[in-house]
Amino acid sequence: MLVACEHCDALHTRVALKPDERATCLRCGGALYRDSLRAYRRLLPLVVTALILLLISNAYPIVAMDLKGSRMETTLWSAVQALYAGDMALVAIIVFATTILFPLAELLMMCYLLVPMAQRRKPPGFDRIVRGILQTRPWGMIEVFMIGVLVTVVKLSTIAQVLPGVALWSFGALVVVLAAILSFDPRELWHHLDAHGADGMPTCSPDPAS
Ligand SMILES: [Zn+2]
Repeated sequence: MLVACEHCDALHTRVALKPDERATCLRCGGALYRDSLRAYRRLLPLVVTALILLLISNAYPIVAMDLKGSRMETTLWSAVQALYAGDMALVAIIVFATTILFPLAELLMMCYLLVPMAQRRKPPGFDRIVRGILQTRPWGMIEVFMIGVLVTVVKLSTIAQVLPGVALWSFGALVVVLAAILSFDPRELWHHLDAHGADGMPTCSPDPAS
């Protein structure tokens, strides 16, 4: 298996690393890859945790609105609908996309890859999904998500009162877990797909072409 240096395009044969070791380019000294087995094993539990947190964030009321004299506690989704109906369609779309759609799409794509991989199977369309994740990553998922949460809190606090409850705290936890998930380079998934033998250890064979 060959690895190209991102900095100078030199080609190297990938070798198995011990935990926490990292490989650097012989020509320019740039970082090539690091041992990601431990990070990879943590990935599926983190993705499942993030999905549960996302569910909790959206199941519990996050704002309280005064409608026709009565105080109503609503979920993020209801708040999005209220924003949309109240001539704030653009804000509603930004809030929906950044706090619900983007994280959900990312987590579902990861689940689609990781669940079969945990059973040593390759899901159909594996390469396309990894490329899909790679293409959405440059958006700076975590920054976009945090801006989304910020916009939500600021915008909603002008028409409603943000509740410091279960939904808000699980959003906070989601930020941390998402950051951990997004620190994993999705290109490493290709390596873990074909690098694991039956014993679960990476079996890197030297490339005969180099
Ligand atoms: Zn290099």
